[in-house]
Amino acid sequence: KGGVDEDETPVRWCRINTIKISPHEFHEKHSVFTNLQPVGSLEELTQTGLVYNDQYIPNLFGIHPREKITSTKAYLDGEVIIQDRASCFPAVILNNDPKDIHHEIIDACAAPGNKTTHSASFIPSDDPNGVVYAFERDQRRLKILSMMCEKATGKSKQNLIQVTHADFTTTKPTDFPDVTGLVVDPSCSGSGIFGRAIEDSQEEHDGSEERIDNERLNKLASFQFTIMKHALSFPKARKVVYSTCSIHPHENERVVVDLLMDAQIKAQGWTLASREIVIPSWERRGWEEEFTAICEGDKNKCTELAGGCVRAVPKEDGGIGFFAACFVKKGNKSKETD
Ligand code: SAM
Repeated sequence: KGGVDEDETPVRWCRINTIKISPHEFHEKHSVFTNLQPVGSLEELTQTGLVYNDQYIPNLFGIHPREKITSTKAYLDGEVIIQDRASCFPAVILNNDPKDIHHEIIDACAAPGNKTTHSASFIPSDDPNGVVYAFERDQRRLKILSMMCEKATGKSKQNLIQVTHADFTTTKPTDFPDVTGLVVDPSCSGSGIFGRAIEDSQEEHDGSEERIDNERLNKLASFQFTIMKHALSFPKARKVVYSTCSIHPHENERVVVDLLMDAQIKAQGWTLASREIVIPSWERRGWEEEFTAICEGDKNKCTELAGGCVRAVPKEDGGIGFFAACFVKKGNKSKETD
Protein backbone atom coordinates (compact mmCIF):
# COMPACT_ATOMS: atom_id res chain seq x y z
CA LYS A 1 0.00 0.00 0.00
CA GLY A 2 1.63 3.26 -1.14
CA GLY A 3 0.01 5.95 0.95
CA VAL A 4 -0.69 6.53 4.58
CA ASP A 5 -4.07 5.66 6.07
CA GLU A 6 -6.16 8.63 7.09
CA ASP A 7 -6.12 7.53 10.68
CA GLU A 8 -2.36 7.15 10.76
CA THR A 9 0.23 9.56 11.97
CA PRO A 10 2.09 11.20 9.06
CA VAL A 11 5.36 10.60 10.87
CA ARG A 12 7.09 7.71 12.56
CA TRP A 13 9.24 8.81 15.49
CA CYS A 14 12.61 7.09 16.06
CA ARG A 15 14.84 7.48 19.06
CA ILE A 16 18.55 6.72 18.86
CA ASN A 17 19.20 4.25 21.66
CA THR A 18 22.12 5.96 23.35
CA ILE A 19 22.57 3.03 25.75
CA LYS A 20 24.04 1.13 22.80
CA ILE A 21 25.40 3.76 20.48
CA SER A 22 26.33 7.43 20.55
CA PRO A 23 24.44 9.75 18.20
CA HIS A 24 27.70 10.44 16.35
CA GLU A 25 28.41 6.72 15.78
CA PHE A 26 24.80 6.19 14.80
CA HIS A 27 25.01 8.77 12.05
CA GLU A 28 28.32 7.33 10.82
CA LYS A 29 27.08 3.75 10.82
CA HIS A 30 23.47 3.96 9.67
CA SER A 31 23.52 5.94 6.48
CA VAL A 32 20.17 4.41 5.58
CA PHE A 33 18.67 7.04 7.87
CA THR A 34 21.17 9.80 7.74
CA ASN A 35 21.44 9.90 3.96
CA LEU A 36 17.93 11.27 4.01
CA GLN A 37 18.18 15.02 4.05
CA PRO A 38 16.72 16.59 7.23
CA VAL A 39 13.88 19.03 6.71
CA GLY A 40 12.98 21.97 8.90
CA SER A 41 9.46 21.13 9.95
CA LEU A 42 6.95 18.34 10.32
CA GLU A 43 4.86 19.81 7.50
CA GLU A 44 7.74 19.48 5.05
CA LEU A 45 8.30 15.92 6.21
CA THR A 46 4.74 15.04 5.33
CA GLN A 47 5.28 16.24 1.82
CA THR A 48 8.78 15.02 1.09
CA GLY A 49 9.30 11.98 3.28
CA LEU A 50 12.68 13.04 4.65
CA VAL A 51 14.10 13.07 8.17
CA TYR A 52 12.99 15.66 10.70
CA ASN A 53 15.22 16.30 13.70
CA ASP A 54 13.03 17.00 16.68
CA GLN A 55 13.49 20.24 18.58
CA TYR A 56 12.01 18.98 21.87
CA ILE A 57 13.46 15.52 22.42
CA PRO A 58 17.20 14.93 22.08
CA ASN A 59 18.24 12.22 19.62
CA LEU A 60 14.74 11.79 18.24
CA PHE A 61 13.91 12.05 14.59
CA GLY A 62 10.74 11.76 12.57
CA ILE A 63 10.66 9.83 9.38
CA HIS A 64 7.99 9.28 6.77
CA PRO A 65 6.01 6.05 7.46
CA ARG A 66 6.92 4.78 3.99
CA GLU A 67 10.53 4.23 5.15
CA LYS A 68 10.86 0.61 6.25
CA ILE A 69 12.51 1.07 9.59
CA THR A 70 11.75 -2.31 11.11
CA SER A 71 13.85 -4.16 8.55
CA THR A 72 16.95 -2.00 9.05
CA LYS A 73 20.01 -3.28 10.90
CA ALA A 74 19.78 -0.31 13.26
CA TYR A 75 16.33 -1.40 14.37
CA LEU A 76 17.09 -5.12 14.51
CA ASP A 77 20.19 -4.42 16.64
CA GLY A 78 18.24 -2.22 19.04
CA GLU A 79 20.21 0.89 18.12
CA VAL A 80 17.08 2.76 17.18
CA ILE A 81 13.73 2.47 18.97
CA ILE A 82 10.38 3.46 17.49
CA GLN A 83 8.67 5.64 20.07
CA ASP A 84 6.05 8.31 19.68
CA ARG A 85 7.39 11.79 20.40
CA ALA A 86 4.96 12.62 23.20
CA SER A 87 5.69 9.27 24.80
CA CYS A 88 9.30 10.48 25.10
CA PHE A 89 8.23 13.41 27.28
CA PRO A 90 8.28 11.63 30.68
CA ALA A 91 11.88 10.39 30.61
CA VAL A 92 13.08 13.76 29.28
CA ILE A 93 11.12 15.68 31.93
CA LEU A 94 12.52 13.42 34.65
CA ASN A 95 16.09 13.75 33.43
CA ASN A 96 16.38 17.19 31.87
CA ASP A 97 18.15 18.91 34.74
CA PRO A 98 21.93 18.40 34.77
CA LYS A 99 21.95 19.52 38.42
CA ASP A 100 19.49 16.77 39.34
CA ILE A 101 20.82 13.47 38.03
CA HIS A 102 18.99 10.28 39.01
CA HIS A 103 21.07 7.16 39.52
CA GLU A 104 18.16 4.96 40.64
CA ILE A 105 14.81 5.30 38.89
CA ILE A 106 11.54 3.39 39.11
CA ASP A 107 9.24 2.78 36.17
CA ALA A 108 6.06 1.79 37.98
CA CYS A 109 4.01 0.56 34.99
CA ALA A 110 6.64 -0.50 32.56
CA ALA A 111 5.52 -2.80 29.70
CA PRO A 112 6.31 -2.73 26.85
CA GLY A 113 9.26 -0.67 28.10
CA ASN A 114 9.53 2.48 26.00
CA LYS A 115 9.84 4.77 28.98
CA THR A 116 11.95 2.23 30.88
CA THR A 117 14.61 2.05 28.20
CA HIS A 118 14.42 5.77 27.57
CA SER A 119 14.88 6.51 31.30
CA ALA A 120 17.80 4.07 31.45
CA SER A 121 19.52 5.99 28.66
CA PHE A 122 19.89 8.99 30.99
CA ILE A 123 21.70 7.12 33.76
CA PRO A 124 25.32 8.24 33.56
CA SER A 125 27.28 5.62 31.61
CA ASP A 126 30.16 5.82 34.11
CA ASP A 127 27.89 4.72 36.97
CA PRO A 128 28.13 0.92 37.28
CA ASN A 129 25.42 0.87 39.98
CA GLY A 130 22.82 2.99 38.21
CA VAL A 131 19.56 1.12 37.69
CA VAL A 132 15.96 1.41 36.52
CA TYR A 133 13.59 -0.83 38.49
CA ALA A 134 10.78 -1.72 36.09
CA PHE A 135 7.53 -3.13 37.48
CA GLU A 136 4.84 -4.86 35.46
CA ARG A 137 1.91 -6.78 36.84
CA ASP A 138 0.71 -8.49 33.65
CA GLN A 139 2.56 -11.74 32.87
CA ARG A 140 2.15 -11.54 29.11
CA ARG A 141 3.26 -7.93 28.91
CA LEU A 142 6.15 -8.71 31.25
CA LYS A 143 7.65 -11.00 28.60
CA ILE A 144 7.51 -8.22 26.01
CA LEU A 145 9.04 -5.83 28.53
CA SER A 146 11.92 -8.22 29.29
CA MET A 147 12.59 -8.71 25.59
CA MET A 148 12.59 -5.00 24.88
CA CYS A 149 14.93 -4.27 27.80
CA GLU A 150 17.37 -7.02 26.78
CA LYS A 151 17.43 -5.75 23.24
CA ALA A 152 17.94 -2.15 24.34
CA THR A 153 20.74 -2.80 26.84
CA GLY A 154 22.63 -5.75 25.34
CA LYS A 155 24.62 -8.15 27.51
CA SER A 156 27.22 -5.66 28.69
CA LYS A 157 24.63 -3.35 30.27
CA GLN A 158 22.08 -5.94 31.35
CA ASN A 159 22.18 -4.78 34.98
CA LEU A 160 21.01 -1.32 33.98
CA ILE A 161 17.36 -2.41 34.06
CA GLN A 162 15.88 -4.75 36.66
CA VAL A 163 12.52 -6.11 35.58
CA THR A 164 10.10 -7.37 38.25
CA HIS A 165 6.75 -9.08 37.86
CA ALA A 166 4.72 -7.31 40.54
CA ASP A 167 1.90 -4.97 41.26
CA PHE A 168 3.74 -1.73 41.95
CA THR A 169 1.34 -0.77 44.74
CA THR A 170 2.50 -3.80 46.75
CA THR A 171 6.16 -2.71 46.71
CA LYS A 172 7.63 -1.41 49.94
CA PRO A 173 9.04 2.11 49.47
CA THR A 174 11.67 1.61 52.17
CA ASP A 175 13.12 -1.26 50.09
CA PHE A 176 14.20 1.42 47.57
CA PRO A 177 16.07 3.94 49.72
CA ASP A 178 18.12 5.37 46.84
CA VAL A 179 15.40 5.87 44.25
CA THR A 180 15.09 9.59 43.53
CA GLY A 181 13.01 9.66 40.34
CA LEU A 182 9.89 7.77 39.24
CA VAL A 183 7.95 7.48 36.01
CA VAL A 184 4.29 6.52 36.46
CA ASP A 185 2.45 5.74 33.24
CA PRO A 186 -0.52 3.66 34.38
CA SER A 187 -3.19 1.94 32.32
CA CYS A 188 -5.63 4.50 30.98
CA SER A 189 -8.54 4.77 28.57
CA GLY A 190 -6.10 5.08 25.65
CA SER A 191 -8.34 7.76 24.18
CA GLY A 192 -5.35 9.56 22.63
CA ILE A 193 -4.25 6.57 20.57
CA PHE A 194 -5.16 6.05 16.96
CA GLY A 195 -4.11 4.10 13.89
CA ARG A 196 -1.02 1.97 13.84
CA ALA A 197 0.50 3.47 17.00
CA ILE A 198 -1.12 0.67 18.97
CA GLU A 199 0.55 -2.18 17.05
CA ASP A 200 3.79 -0.31 16.46
CA SER A 201 4.91 -0.13 20.00
CA GLN A 202 2.09 -1.74 21.96
CA GLU A 203 2.45 1.68 23.36
CA GLU A 204 0.09 2.94 25.97
CA HIS A 205 -2.92 0.71 25.75
CA ASP A 206 -3.82 -2.15 28.04
CA GLY A 207 -5.95 -3.90 25.43
CA SER A 208 -9.26 -3.13 27.05
CA GLU A 209 -12.16 -2.82 24.66
CA GLU A 210 -14.49 -1.29 27.24
CA ARG A 211 -16.51 1.77 26.31
CA ILE A 212 -15.12 5.09 27.50
CA ASP A 213 -17.83 6.58 29.68
CA ASN A 214 -17.75 8.67 32.83
CA GLU A 215 -18.06 5.67 35.09
CA ARG A 216 -15.07 3.99 33.51
CA LEU A 217 -13.05 7.22 33.49
CA ASN A 218 -13.72 7.74 37.20
CA LYS A 219 -12.68 4.16 37.95
CA LEU A 220 -9.46 4.63 36.00
CA ALA A 221 -8.84 7.96 37.74
CA SER A 222 -9.20 6.37 41.13
CA PHE A 223 -6.66 3.65 40.21
CA GLN A 224 -4.31 6.28 38.74
CA PHE A 225 -4.55 8.32 41.94
CA THR A 226 -3.72 5.28 44.09
CA ILE A 227 -0.70 4.30 42.06
CA MET A 228 0.61 7.89 42.04
CA LYS A 229 0.08 8.28 45.76
CA HIS A 230 2.20 5.19 46.30
CA ALA A 231 4.91 6.57 43.98
CA LEU A 232 5.00 9.84 45.91
CA SER A 233 5.65 7.95 49.16
CA PHE A 234 9.15 6.70 48.26
CA PRO A 235 11.50 8.07 50.90
CA LYS A 236 14.09 9.80 48.69
CA ALA A 237 11.85 10.52 45.70
CA ARG A 238 12.22 14.13 44.63
CA LYS A 239 10.74 14.07 41.12
CA VAL A 240 7.82 11.96 39.86
CA VAL A 241 6.44 12.21 36.34
CA TYR A 242 2.84 11.14 35.80
CA SER A 243 1.57 10.45 32.29
CA THR A 244 -1.31 8.99 30.30
CA CYS A 245 -2.21 8.63 26.65
CA SER A 246 -5.68 9.90 27.43
CA ILE A 247 -7.25 13.14 26.27
CA HIS A 248 -9.77 13.21 29.13
CA PRO A 249 -9.23 15.64 32.02
CA HIS A 250 -10.64 12.99 34.39
CA GLU A 251 -7.43 10.97 33.99
CA ASN A 252 -5.15 13.97 33.65
CA GLU A 253 -5.50 17.36 35.37
CA ARG A 254 -8.20 16.06 37.73
CA VAL A 255 -5.94 13.29 39.03
CA VAL A 256 -3.18 15.88 39.47
CA VAL A 257 -5.50 18.23 41.38
CA ASP A 258 -6.72 15.41 43.64
CA LEU A 259 -3.11 14.51 44.41
CA LEU A 260 -2.18 18.14 45.16
CA MET A 261 -5.16 18.43 47.51
CA ASP A 262 -4.40 15.22 49.42
CA ALA A 263 -3.36 16.09 52.99
CA GLN A 264 -0.66 13.43 53.22
CA ILE A 265 0.87 14.37 49.87
CA LYS A 266 0.82 18.05 50.82
CA ALA A 267 2.50 17.25 54.13
CA GLN A 268 5.22 15.34 52.27
CA GLY A 269 5.97 18.62 50.44
CA TRP A 270 4.94 17.68 46.89
CA THR A 271 4.00 20.33 44.39
CA LEU A 272 4.00 20.72 40.61
CA ALA A 273 7.23 21.66 38.87
CA SER A 274 7.45 25.00 37.14
CA ARG A 275 7.16 25.17 33.37
CA GLU A 276 10.88 25.80 32.89
CA ILE A 277 11.71 22.17 33.69
CA VAL A 278 8.75 20.61 31.86
CA ILE A 279 9.67 20.95 28.16
CA PRO A 280 9.22 24.74 28.37
CA SER A 281 9.12 25.44 24.65
CA TRP A 282 6.24 23.00 24.04
CA GLU A 283 3.25 25.31 23.68
CA ARG A 284 0.37 23.07 24.70
CA ARG A 285 0.14 22.96 28.49
CA GLY A 286 -2.40 21.52 30.95
CA TRP A 287 -5.93 22.88 30.93
CA GLU A 288 -5.90 25.91 33.25
CA GLU A 289 -9.60 25.83 34.06
CA GLU A 290 -9.18 22.39 35.65
CA PHE A 291 -7.01 23.94 38.38
CA THR A 292 -9.48 26.58 39.58
CA ALA A 293 -10.43 24.51 42.64
CA ILE A 294 -6.93 24.96 44.08
CA CYS A 295 -6.10 28.44 42.80
CA GLU A 296 -8.28 30.46 45.17
CA GLY A 297 -9.27 32.83 42.38
CA ASP A 298 -5.67 33.55 41.42
CA LYS A 299 -5.51 33.17 37.64
CA ASN A 300 -1.73 33.36 37.54
CA LYS A 301 -1.58 30.43 39.92
CA CYS A 302 -3.77 28.39 37.56
CA THR A 303 -1.44 29.26 34.66
CA GLU A 304 1.56 28.29 36.75
CA LEU A 305 0.10 24.92 37.72
CA ALA A 306 -1.03 24.18 34.18
CA GLY A 307 2.53 25.02 33.12
CA GLY A 308 3.74 22.03 35.16
CA CYS A 309 1.84 19.82 32.71
CA VAL A 310 2.08 19.21 28.96
CA ARG A 311 -0.54 17.92 26.59
CA ALA A 312 -0.37 16.61 23.03
CA VAL A 313 -3.40 16.52 20.77
CA PRO A 314 -3.63 13.36 18.65
CA LYS A 315 -2.48 13.82 15.03
CA GLU A 316 -2.42 17.63 15.24
CA ASP A 317 0.72 17.51 17.38
CA GLY A 318 2.38 14.88 15.20
CA GLY A 319 1.50 11.72 17.11
CA ILE A 320 -0.68 10.24 19.82
CA GLY A 321 -2.69 12.23 22.37
CA PHE A 322 -0.76 12.48 25.60
CA PHE A 323 -0.57 14.13 29.01
CA ALA A 324 2.32 14.49 31.45
CA ALA A 325 2.68 16.27 34.78
CA CYS A 326 5.81 16.66 36.85
CA PHE A 327 5.72 16.54 40.66
CA VAL A 328 8.69 17.82 42.64
CA LYS A 329 9.32 17.94 46.36
CA LYS A 330 9.62 21.37 47.92
CA GLY A 331 13.19 22.23 48.81
CA ASN A 332 14.37 20.12 45.88
CA LYS A 333 16.99 21.62 43.58
CA SER A 334 14.44 21.45 40.72
CA LYS A 335 12.34 24.59 40.34
CA GLU A 336 8.82 24.32 41.71
CA THR A 337 5.59 26.27 41.76
CA ASP A 338 4.64 27.62 45.23
N1 SAM B 1 5.13 2.89 30.17
C1 SAM B 1 4.87 1.93 29.12
C2 SAM B 1 5.68 2.31 27.89
O1 SAM B 1 5.94 3.49 27.69
O2 SAM B 1 6.07 1.42 27.14
C3 SAM B 1 3.39 1.77 28.83
C4 SAM B 1 2.63 1.44 30.08
S1 SAM B 1 0.94 0.98 29.82
C5 SAM B 1 0.14 2.46 29.65
C6 SAM B 1 0.49 0.55 31.46
C7 SAM B 1 1.12 -0.74 31.95
O3 SAM B 1 1.01 -0.76 33.35
C8 SAM B 1 0.42 -1.98 31.44
O4 SAM B 1 1.38 -2.86 30.92
C9 SAM B 1 -0.22 -2.57 32.69
O5 SAM B 1 -0.26 -3.98 32.67
C10 SAM B 1 0.72 -2.07 33.77
N2 SAM B 1 0.13 -1.92 35.13
C11 SAM B 1 -1.11 -1.51 35.44
N3 SAM B 1 -1.25 -1.47 36.78
C12 SAM B 1 -0.08 -1.86 37.31
C13 SAM B 1 0.39 -2.03 38.64
N4 SAM B 1 -0.41 -1.80 39.68
N5 SAM B 1 1.65 -2.45 38.84
C14 SAM B 1 2.46 -2.70 37.78
N6 SAM B 1 2.07 -2.58 36.50
C15 SAM B 1 0.82 -2.16 36.26
